[in-house]
Amino acid sequence: MLNKKNGVNFKSLCVDPTKVPKEKNVFFTHAHSDHVKLSDKSRFFATPQTIELIKKRYVRKNFINFNSINFFSKKKFDDFEIKLFPNGHILGSSQVKIFGNKEINITSDFRLQDSLFFDGIKPLASEILVLETTFGSPAYNFPKYSVVVDEMVEWISREAKSNLVLLSGYSLGKAQELTKISNLAGFEPVVHESIFEMNKIYSSNNMDLGKYSLLDHNLKDFSVLILPPQLVNKFLLSTLKEMESRQIVSALATGWTFVREYDKTFPLSNHADYNDLIEYVKQVNPKLVLTDHGFCEEFARKLNRLGFKSKPLKQNKQQVLFDF
Ligand SMILES: [Zn+2]
Repeated sequence: MLNKKNGVNFKSLCVDPTKVPKEKNVFFTHAHSDHVKLSDKSRFFATPQTIELIKKRYVRKNFINFNSINFFSKKKFDDFEIKLFPNGHILGSSQVKIFGNKEINITSDFRLQDSLFFDGIKPLASEILVLETTFGSPAYNFPKYSVVVDEMVEWISREAKSNLVLLSGYSLGKAQELTKISNLAGFEPVVHESIFEMNKIYSSNNMDLGKYSLLDHNLKDFSVLILPPQLVNKFLLSTLKEMESRQIVSALATGWTFVREYDKTFPLSNHADYNDLIEYVKQVNPKLVLTDHGFCEEFARKLNRLGFKSKPLKQNKQQVLFDF
């Protein structure tokens, strides 16, 4: 048995390892950094879109061995097959269903509701469900996604007429939604380079983001600026205020409830919220739910109270899934 630090393993395939893998075959559910660890000794499998994003974000060597698997097609490994399904989280992200002596579904980070670029997903039937529980606490029930988008469009339309609107969200996933929302509000945004690179990949994969420009220190032609959160701090805001004759108004798009130095926080999330997590389990009714990430212990206790057998993946150090 391999320990937790190696991620979820089922015999010869490791899913989303949390440290540099030694396994021969590794599958990445999507291209966020907490799910991607590369080495030159493994073979990596993912959707073509995920591979494209990973190569642009993390790969500095040419000899990484990538192999693409398309959505809805099956890939055979030793004594099991896997099949990938969209999970509504970001471009290329997948839930993976494993067909062996048991049927197992790993949701990874997922979103149940329709969003700007992705249809809401259908829960997949399985005996064992490995459920991503980032927001598995009742404090994290979000308004309907479309309502949050409408509120943001209305706020940007109003504020950007006379102010410089600063929007902040993760470079991959959230920032593309902010780009689209800015366009829906009638303003072409200028975006940080890390966002521009990801936007280009979304656009080339037929996602309609609207117009956007690369930030080159000239803000005067724009009313909306989009930056990743790690660049936004008091120093940057005071520098912008000195540079600009306009007032700066700022908003962070996040499912988390912190505000920091922003004027507003919009609960625009690309994860399932608490009620959606329960809804997923109810629709699937699996024999066992293994919760992973976030509020995994609290949510497993809740599921047990609701009559679903559940335990956190980490608590049981149970990563070799076919040993169940
Ligand atoms: Zn993610």
